[in-house]
Amino acid sequence: MIITCPECTSRFAVQRESLGVTGRFVRCARCLHIWFQLPEDETEPTFTPTPQQTPVSGQLPSLSMDFKPSNPLWTTALILSFISMAILLALVMKKDWIGTTFPQTEAYYQMIL
Ligand SMILES: [Zn+2]
Repeated sequence: MIITCPECTSRFAVQRESLGVTGRFVRCARCLHIWFQLPEDETEPTFTPTPQQTPVSGQLPSLSMDFKPSNPLWTTALILSFISMAILLALVMKKDWIGTTFPQTEAYYQMIL
């Protein structure tokens, strides 16, 4: 059955048997209000259908934050290595153009190639 907190109108699903035949005190999980709940006091028929804003079970679903963001250091290292490779590749492929444009680099090219 569904019971409603008289203080904050939060709704909770409870087992009718858990209230016993004479009812029992229950405590709202949201506002901690305590009231005596009778088992036959079914509030469901009088409940006006409104958008569900209060948790029926009294517990909001907890978000799981299992994923870990990728290590930014790793990403930076990867990007830097790609840039270095691109520069080296450009230097090697444009060797002739660089050699004629900047003749002083010829000695360096002979050292590494
Ligand atoms: Zn309440």
